[in-house]
Amino acid sequence: MESEKIKKLNEIIKEGNNIVFFGGAGVSTESGIPDFRSADGIYMMNYKYPPEQIISRSFFDRHPKEFFEFYKKYFYYPDAKPNITHLKLAELEKQGKLKAIVTQNIDGLHTAAGSKNVFELHGSVFRNYCMNCGKFYDIDYIINSDGIPKCSCGGTVKPDVVLYEESLDERCIEGAVRAIEQADTLIVAGTSLRVYPAAGFIRYFRGRNLVIINKEKTDMDSMFNLCINGSLKDVMSELEI
Ligand code: NAD
Repeated sequence: MESEKIKKLNEIIKEGNNIVFFGGAGVSTESGIPDFRSADGIYMMNYKYPPEQIISRSFFDRHPKEFFEFYKKYFYYPDAKPNITHLKLAELEKQGKLKAIVTQNIDGLHTAAGSKNVFELHGSVFRNYCMNCGKFYDIDYIINSDGIPKCSCGGTVKPDVVLYEESLDERCIEGAVRAIEQADTLIVAGTSLRVYPAAGFIRYFRGRNLVIINKEKTDMDSMFNLCINGSLKDVMSELEI
């Protein structure tokens, strides 16, 4: 483990009064939820359609049955619990140092860990709405439905998750960008930084300490002033939070 870098990160957190965390699928792999691009990620799976195609809006519209077959199997993990990263971030928020979490994840684990100010850029599996009348449905309704989940009005119930070709929620973008702009420290973690526009949001950061913690290198590593290559569990367990 890069102990000098961990020491530096502890100093940064100690000094920081407005810390924002920007995370991706790698934050939840240690809760047993696969990411997309790691060797054991969802994109490496041999499925009848390429996963990146299935999770697009055009595929959802054309093949809803196949979409939901895949979605119910690989997008919801009922046994997943917050891991050390989710829990330490919730604690840091309680201490008043962490002001916001901006996440690309749809698994609700930051909220489950107790974090309050969470911007879920890509939505959440726990929110589902009828595309016709807007009625809300919970996750159990989706998972227990036979084939395509249908509303009492006959419309299809769509998970409130952002698919490829769909735009992000404006209010969520505004809140996330404002939090990043005002931060003195931005900790980016568990993300390949390859999904846009989300990855571009870190360019709004104007503060002093820009940190990345990731297992693999990313194409944007050169813009960080502290770059830790390692697993989040190993790094988080060394943090004095
Ligand atoms: P990604 O799959 O493209 O990249 C994940 C990154 O995390 C990789 O670079 C990997 O090296 C790193 N990583 C994995 N486990 C790690 C660990 N334990 N410690 C440190 N680093 C680790 O993920 P992305 O950049 O978030 O983009 C994928 C998209 O997939 C996002 O839009 C997200 O919405 C979605 N997604 C979400 C979930 C979830 O909600 N848990 C799961 C899979 C995918």
